[in-house]
Amino acid sequence: MTAPAPEPALNVARPAQERAALLLWLKEQLHAEYGERVLEPRREPMHELISTILSGRTTHDDEEAAYHSLRELGDWDAIAAAPVAEVAHAIRRSNYPEQKAPRIQATLKQIREKNGSYDLEFLRDMPVKDALKWLTDLPGVGIKTASLLLLFNYARPVFPVDTHVHRINTRVGTIPRMGEQAAHRALLALLPPDPPFLFELHKNLLRHGQQVCQWTRPKCGKCVLQERCDAYAIYGDRVPSFSEK
Ligand code: SF4
Repeated sequence: MTAPAPEPALNVARPAQERAALLLWLKEQLHAEYGERVLEPRREPMHELISTILSGRTTHDDEEAAYHSLRELGDWDAIAAAPVAEVAHAIRRSNYPEQKAPRIQATLKQIREKNGSYDLEFLRDMPVKDALKWLTDLPGVGIKTASLLLLFNYARPVFPVDTHVHRINTRVGTIPRMGEQAAHRALLALLPPDPPFLFELHKNLLRHGQQVCQWTRPKCGKCVLQERCDAYAIYGDRVPSFSEK
């Protein structure tokens, strides 16, 4: 009896140069499909930082509602000093408020302690590596949140990897299968240090992930990346649901 064929593996190692070229092609395809995205801050830095913490597993409308309700508690010092249950109640439209409330308060306290104020303007000129470290040393801030803040608010050359960016790049084959955290470093190493370029690529990947290359049942028949997509080459119209692992 013959053994069953092993399931084809995604992303058999490609040289970095080839993956970098594939990323450039991908960016151009998405540009042709969705157009240019202009890099400009969507909200002030502290708003961006705290809202990104609130956004985990939460819709955009609920994230905004939670943020505005949080700000009704007072200024950042007042929010940091409020009873944690009050903060959790204020952000209840966000998922996991009991976990996010102490993280937000710890983040605020540490910013005040390290910086003396909530003005983050110094991040504009700090070396990128140091700015990423400064932010990710805060208790509630991971590499994605730090990268979003630095790229969106200060036009620094970093590349935020959210679930859509991670999924599409893994399926197409610009990165081997790896976690979202590791994908930040892997993708950034392949991309030009050009903030407008990085911003447009991030935003267009987000849109493509929401509308076409969804977590389950991606619409490969409508996809402008189909021609060079590893997952499509292997599975055709039956690309399986994406697993983070
Ligand atoms: S061809 Fe399918 S799996 Fe590949 S990027 Fe497009 S939608 Fe995603």
